[in-house]
Parts: sequence; C-alpha cells; structure tokens
Amino acid sequence: MIPLRLKIETDAIEPYVVRLRSFEGISGESHHTGALDAALESASAETAEFSGATGNLRLFGVDPSEVNGDVLFVVPSRGTAHRLIRANSRHNTLLVTERCDQLCLMCSQPPKKQHIDMFPFFETALLLSQKNSIIGISGGEPTLFKSELFDFFNRAMSRRLDIDFHVLTNAQHFDRADLAILRRLDLTRILWGIPVYSSDRDIHDSIVAKPGAYDQVRKSLSLLCEAGAKIELRTVLMKPNAPGLLDLAKFVTTALPFVDSWAIMQLENIGYARQNWDTLFFDSSTGFDIVGKALDFAISRGINTTLYNFPLCTVPTDYRAFAPSTISDWKRAYVADCADCSLRNECGGFFEWHPKVHGYERFGVA
Ligand code: SF4
Repeated sequence: MIPLRLKIETDAIEPYVVRLRSFEGISGESHHTGALDAALESASAETAEFSGATGNLRLFGVDPSEVNGDVLFVVPSRGTAHRLIRANSRHNTLLVTERCDQLCLMCSQPPKKQHIDMFPFFETALLLSQKNSIIGISGGEPTLFKSELFDFFNRAMSRRLDIDFHVLTNAQHFDRADLAILRRLDLTRILWGIPVYSSDRDIHDSIVAKPGAYDQVRKSLSLLCEAGAKIELRTVLMKPNAPGLLDLAKFVTTALPFVDSWAIMQLENIGYARQNWDTLFFDSSTGFDIVGKALDFAISRGINTTLYNFPLCTVPTDYRAFAPSTISDWKRAYVADCADCSLRNECGGFFEWHPKVHGYERFGVA
C-alpha cells in the first residue's frame, strides 16, 4: 500500500503545507521553486532532506523521486506529514471532518466527535496541486461545515480554474437558502456523490441509522437538481438492500432521471462494515441476477450506471464493461489467485484490507 502518512522531523513548530520538489527522474521540468516549495538537498537509503522558505524537513523511509510534487500537511508536534495531494494521482481526497450525523451500518470511517478546521490548509494545498486534478471532498460529512465548504469553493475555484471536485455528502443539510449560493458556483466543475440505499424509506433510514434521512435526501436531490448540480447516486450493495435493487433502479429512472450517473458499489471491509460483515456482505458472484436486472433496467432508461469495486471475474462476461477499475492505487490489492489472471490489467482487484478469504463463491477466470 502507498503510505499517505510519513514520518518526519522538522525545525518548524506550527503545522504547515509544503510542496516537495525532488526533481529526480524528472526531465524537462523547471527547477524553479516557490515560497511554499521545499527542494531536495540530500538523500540516503533511510532519509531525504528538503529545505525551503518553510524550513528544513527530513522524511524517513521514502524515495524522493516518488514524492516529487506531492503536497504535504506537516504536523511537527506529531512528527508526521500527511500527503494531502499526491502528484502521481489525478484523484486526491481531502477529509473535511470526521464528524457525521449518520451512523451507517457499513461506514468505512466511523465518525469521531472532534473537528479541526482544515480549510485554510486545504486551500493552500489546492493552489499547489497538479494541473487538471480532480479533488475529492469527503468526511465524515463535509456539509456539516457547509458555509466553510461554500467559502472554500468560492475562493479555490476562482483561483484554480483547471481543478474539478467530487464531493461525497449524505445530502442531509441542504436547504432552499443554499440555492442562490450553489448557483453562484460553477456547478459544471462539482460532482456531488450522494448515497441512496433503497427506494424503501425504512430500509434506507435503517441502513444510515437516521430516521427521516430518506425524506431529507429526496428533498436535497430535488434542490440540487433545481440548482443544476451534477449528481452521482451511490448505492452500496448489501444483504439488507440487495433484494430491492430492481425497485431502486425503477425509482431512479422515474423519480431521479436527472442524475448524471448511478454507482452500485461492493462493500469495503473496513470500519463498521468489518464488524457487520456477516450480516452485510452480499456475494454478487452468485447473486448477480439481482444486480444484472437493476443494471439492465437503469441502462435501458438512459441512466449511466456502473459497478464500483466489483472484482472483474465475479461479474458475468457480458457485464464486465460496466465494472471499471475503481479502487484507488494506494489501497488496491490482489489475492494469490490473481497472480496469473488475464484480466488483471483491467481489474480493480480488492481493497488492501479485504480478507484473503474473500467471500466470493464464483471467483477466477475460467
Ligand atoms: S482473479 Fe483477481 S485479477 Fe483476475 S479478475 Fe478476479 S479479482 Fe481480478
């Protein structure tokens, strides 16, 4: 797994954002450094020394050529640096908060009470990021800090016209007063990823452990539609909602035809999902007819529908075109049986933390 947190030493006291410039293995790149850059001074097998206007920074256990252009959030008191933006990835995600007002049965990042406002650091990081990036905004629930989020978009989007955003939100906190604010943003550059787990109110509310959540998400979807926002519906497939997947497809096509796309997602074995695995994991390799029918229905009605996080060999051949590789490189892994697989280059494999006994009854390429 690609490490996102690095061990460091620095002479600074306060947290700060810095971009690393190692220039190693980079041809044709200007060696110009800005005020928020730290340039590589020396490297050994164990450490790499960087320095710049922000001070001296020693990184442990990294190859400098692999972090060239990365934007770090350095926390001197903890001796750590977080790779906020990896230059080698077009998709980086900023975690706005660990607070959330839902308690989803399969939450991959169980909520915490404390919150630190990272927006000022995120704004700086964004200005230093690679051209034409897509930046994910995630949590917890980012819209718990809605006004800060909107302010961030207002400032950052006008200063970096080349960057687009993908926001993961439970859509519980939008109201009509937001319409004017949303309309002032360039909504063509923001994709709102919103979970809807079922067309059955009770099932959706029980999955997110919040009474009234379904009604609120429907109101928010209408509001976002009115504002002209781009929406990606997201449905994690699990035992409690799998039987109703076709009904959900019908609901999406009739009540939410304005969405840009619908992602049906396999479960990630982490956080609460790991604790609840036996009651949640739905083996789509043997139960694919449920998925296939929903997919056929939604596609036939013009909804751009895809399967996220499905190992390719667990998907029938005719449906594999709908199952792109979606697990980010830093958390992607394969099991022993994948070693000689002819589909490996197209297959997203598993999350790094998926059990080696993976739970799919039909597995492997015949
Ligand atoms: S065997 Fe592994 S690499 Fe091949 S399709 Fe299945 S999960 Fe993907």
